[in-house]
Amino acid sequence: MNEMQLKFLSRSENEIFARNAVAAFVLPLNPSLSEISDIKTAVSEAVTNAIVHGYRGDEGWIVLNCKTDGNSLHIEISDSGRGIEDVAEAQQPFFTTLAGEERSGMGFTIMQTFMDDFAVRSATGAGTTVTMRKDFGAKAEADAR
Ligand code: ATP
Ligand code: MG
Repeated sequence: MNEMQLKFLSRSENEIFARNAVAAFVLPLNPSLSEISDIKTAVSEAVTNAIVHGYRGDEGWIVLNCKTDGNSLHIEISDSGRGIEDVAEAQQPFFTTLAGEERSGMGFTIMQTFMDDFAVRSATGAGTTVTMRKDFGAKAEADAR
């Protein structure tokens, strides 16, 4: 069991900081390259959402919690931004409230696909929390069966 927490401003350069910090944190679990890549992609998508949708370019805090537990990594990424009106609708593939600004509406779908568990909690005007879990070795075990 290991745990860490990071708190950083909603600046675009912090997306790279956050995904690399998580990658470094999980190294002791001996993740495969594809597992590291999945985690970095999912963290990037969640942090980008907090920056572009949660805070819409304003400055605010993003809090990242990580916990390892056996062969699993638990990640929680929270912002205190605008929140999401309809969380179920927001998770539909291609749903975006920023169409025409290079948003494809695939962030939540990517997080869901690349991680083993995924959930979003949100309250309008209060903020959004994304929780994700990655199980290490899950694919290798499935392939061996
Ligand atoms: P893409 O991720 O493909 O660039 P996108 O960000 O619009 O496009 P998703 O990441 O799937 O797509 O998010 C879907 C929608 O959910 C967003 O358009 C936005 O309306 C809402 N949303 C997601 N994350 C947040 C957040 N942290 N705060 C407020 N709204 C959010
Ligand atoms: Mg997105």
